[in-house]
Amino acid sequence: MQLLEDFGKIFEAPQFIWPYLYFFATEQEMKLVVAMGKESLTCRDIAFRLSTSEEETRGILEEAYLRYILNKESKDSTVYYSAGTFYKRLNNFCLFGNFYVIPKKIRKKLDEWCFAEYLKRNDNFKKVIAAEPEYDACHNEWIFLLHEVEEMIDRASTIRVLPCDCKMLADNCDHSREICLYFAPELISDRTGGRELTKEEAKELVRKLDREGLMHTGGPPDWREKGPSVVCNCCGCCCYPFRAAKKLGTKGKWPKSRYVAEFDREKCRLCGLCAKRCYFGAFTFDGNEISFNPELCWGCGICAGTCSGKAITMAEL
Ligand code: SF4
Ligand code: SF4
Ligand code: SF4
Repeated sequence: MQLLEDFGKIFEAPQFIWPYLYFFATEQEMKLVVAMGKESLTCRDIAFRLSTSEEETRGILEEAYLRYILNKESKDSTVYYSAGTFYKRLNNFCLFGNFYVIPKKIRKKLDEWCFAEYLKRNDNFKKVIAAEPEYDACHNEWIFLLHEVEEMIDRASTIRVLPCDCKMLADNCDHSREICLYFAPELISDRTGGRELTKEEAKELVRKLDREGLMHTGGPPDWREKGPSVVCNCCGCCCYPFRAAKKLGTKGKWPKSRYVAEFDREKCRLCGLCAKRCYFGAFTFDGNEISFNPELCWGCGICAGTCSGKAITMAEL
């Protein structure tokens, strides 16, 4: 128990997860982190502390780095390792680890904790609220329509798909999980994970996700000049950016809405599908009549794409 406690403190893990830390780190990794404390150390320093050979230590350090247990940086041609954080390891573990062995009620607490940390760590929300639209630091800054995402794919220099951490953590719906697209080589490091897609595979995927009812967000806003970086395919119930926007009242500004739905009642066949698909209640259906409130529309286009009567079009703001 002492090891879990010592490791949990250095690793900045919330106390409720300490009994489950063995899912996130091996005993060897915990001892390693406890031996290192909060210091930045070379492989030689660490080998000395652990009384192991440098060669053996390097293997352990590299493995721990790939699992986000440790961080690594180079200064003046020397490599330094330091303890990682539970926040980053949680992200990696929920994507690529055996995350669902953790009981559901603990995963719910983890989602709440992680969402609170997310709000603290992402100052782009504060910038938006303070009316400083400098939100290039966040990848979900714009809401895109499907045809724009297809154009981004055409311009991408590399395409990698990763699981969605919001959905893995929140687990509020049954939507597809392998849905985050990275387009920029500089975003991909030796520990990013995921798998490469061809342009055709990527287009097929986003069309399927659009049909499924997932909204496309990404950027950067000047992607036509700079090249696209990321496209996410988001639901309204798990997605941290949309949950944050709803909580903080940044609708329209962040993620930025660039379209609004327009409804032609004459063409409506009263199927009710738009009301089922809209995450924000802009369309409602009482069994007889469709109502549309454009004030509630975030401009995702998810209703328009599947409207059988072609009664919904997306107008640019
Ligand atoms: S922003 Fe959207 S797609 Fe990206 S990780 Fe969150 S829910 Fe998933
Ligand atoms: S999806 Fe189109 S046709 Fe169906 S109810 Fe909505 S507006 Fe009408
Ligand atoms: S009404 Fe607006 S927010 Fe709702 S699905 Fe249609 S475009 Fe998206």
